[in-house]
Amino acid sequence: MKKFGKLLFSSLLMLGLLSCGGNQGGTTPPEPDPEIPEIVRTYEKIESATLYTKKVENMSNDFIMGMDASSVISLENSGVKFYDFNGKEEDVFKVLSDNGVNYIRVRIWNDPFDKNGHGYGGGNCDINTAIAIGKRATANKMKLLVNFHYSDFWADPAKQMVPKAWKEMEIMDKCEALYEYTKESLQKLRHEGIAVGMVQVGNETSGGKMAGETRFSYFAALFNEGAKAVREIYPDALVACHFANPEKTNNYYDWAAKMNQYNVDYDVFGSSYYPYWHGTLENLGTVLSTIATTYNKKTMVLETSYAFTTEDTDYFGNTIGTGGGIAKPYPFSIAGQANCIRDIVDTVVNHCTNGIGVCYWEGTWISVGGANYDENLAKWEQYGSGWASSYAAEYDPNDAGKWYGGTAVDNQAFFDKTGHPLESLKVLNNVRFGNDAPKYVDGVQNAEVSYYTYEDFTLPETVDVIYNDNSRSPLAVIWEDFDIPAAKAKGNGKYEIKGHAEGYSGDVYCYLTIMEYNYLQNFGFEEQAKHWTMTNNSESAFSDEYKVLPTEENPQTGKYAYHFWAKGENVVNFDLEQELTLSQTGNYKMQASLLGGTDVSPATEDLQNIYMYVKINDVVTYTKDMKLKGYAAGYSDFLLTGIHYEAGQKIVVGFHVEAKERGSWGDIDDCMFNIVL
Ligand code: CA
Repeated sequence: MKKFGKLLFSSLLMLGLLSCGGNQGGTTPPEPDPEIPEIVRTYEKIESATLYTKKVENMSNDFIMGMDASSVISLENSGVKFYDFNGKEEDVFKVLSDNGVNYIRVRIWNDPFDKNGHGYGGGNCDINTAIAIGKRATANKMKLLVNFHYSDFWADPAKQMVPKAWKEMEIMDKCEALYEYTKESLQKLRHEGIAVGMVQVGNETSGGKMAGETRFSYFAALFNEGAKAVREIYPDALVACHFANPEKTNNYYDWAAKMNQYNVDYDVFGSSYYPYWHGTLENLGTVLSTIATTYNKKTMVLETSYAFTTEDTDYFGNTIGTGGGIAKPYPFSIAGQANCIRDIVDTVVNHCTNGIGVCYWEGTWISVGGANYDENLAKWEQYGSGWASSYAAEYDPNDAGKWYGGTAVDNQAFFDKTGHPLESLKVLNNVRFGNDAPKYVDGVQNAEVSYYTYEDFTLPETVDVIYNDNSRSPLAVIWEDFDIPAAKAKGNGKYEIKGHAEGYSGDVYCYLTIMEYNYLQNFGFEEQAKHWTMTNNSESAFSDEYKVLPTEENPQTGKYAYHFWAKGENVVNFDLEQELTLSQTGNYKMQASLLGGTDVSPATEDLQNIYMYVKINDVVTYTKDMKLKGYAAGYSDFLLTGIHYEAGQKIVVGFHVEAKERGSWGDIDDCMFNIVL
């Protein structure tokens, strides 16, 4: 095995320290780390009578087929059992390995426990959990993908909370702490002979946020400390960064450029890709290929999943259900789940430059099996097998503290609620070979259409039926009664219309959006600042700590919204205006949506002076107050009515935004100005 001076020294130091507190005295020579086994995998086709799989061409033997299984230990503690395809109880890690999985991903939180030792939930995943999972992964010929969150609980684009122990640290001390923590954690894994193949420094660190820091330069410094520790302890392992929302392409290009600018040391540019929200596969391939080529990096999908049913099995609601508003490019079925993953693998293999793998997220996170909510809650609280326990409230009061409970992804697992594998699990192996199966109708592609109120339209005459091999053909559809003129008269609106397709037994839906004519140009900021004039009234100049501009941060619709944010003592104060060209005298209305908050929860409304306005001949004549109501409240609509306009007058509409509270931020989107007939 490889031995390195510094590593040996560190191990000696660590064991020396440990033995001082133990009962063996300080003279015991250190045990050498065990040999890390070399993992060489071969794959054979697995027969399936029902699961059609189209072969992915050009797939290399070492393509990473990963599974995040971080919650497994807590599930087993809760009494969950897993089975193989013969119905025999089996170690779930063997079942995964036997079905083509060659990497296990595990998240690590620094200290997911309260002061009384109660776990925050989500698997209570700390280094000890990672060791337990890593040993079983290695024993079953799967490498470990270590996913450091550098937080005591969930880190994602909305939340990168600093670990409790690092709370008071300045950035330099935090860098050192992150390095030491990463090194010690990896040493523990190495000491157990665990085959670590890749290490993620941070989880969904979108925008360069990590461990409570929000400046990209700080993120880069922290990241490099993590990377340094990986290079020292597991020199053969790949170092990965991880971001989310590849559909916001400019963000990805911006972050990749900054990683380069700050000399961040990484091998793999990793992305989450959830088909519901994250754009098309074509876009994913383009974004990752561009970054791979520009900066000579490997690329990978570090998280993905797809629902096989809309059923919830643990009495705790799921993220993905029957509702509209998200992309559902495949039926929620066994075949749909398998075809989705097959297509993602195909994209990474054949349409991503330097694409090295795909990792499914929590395909083992099933119900803890209680007969009702209370039985499950008792297990989630005791064993941490739900997404959060009530004990997480002290650390994360606004999210976990309010919404704690079970798993929201049991309908996206590869196992049913009794722990038996779904036929779709075989896709993880059979993408390498393909598999034929009899063709059957598996679902329909629901219709999604949008029209303006002044357009003449009818509902679609056909919808596509989807077969289990993912082929599609049109079927005639009859919609239930729907009054189009009445809906148009109501103005902006969204409708779900049920229908029946000839030859298909399930329900079919048409998701209809009706939009009013809009006298505003670039009303949703999709052309960014075009047609709008912004005036900064603040004493602060624009900087990394005070921003007013269209961004991809939090659009209500489309890709952009008009964003503002002020850090610390900066005060938000600006006007955003557009001059209109109207020719018709009449009564008009103006509408806009606003999302936002401050560092204080709930935000102090007295410190906000935000309103939309209409200037007639340069005089502010009509106004409507708007408020920042906090992120959890979502976008709020504000409507200004009774605007009277005479032909020939000059008319300018706009927003005045003045917010004095620390950390005030917001997004304006979907503005509308229309005549009232
Ligand atoms: Ca659930």
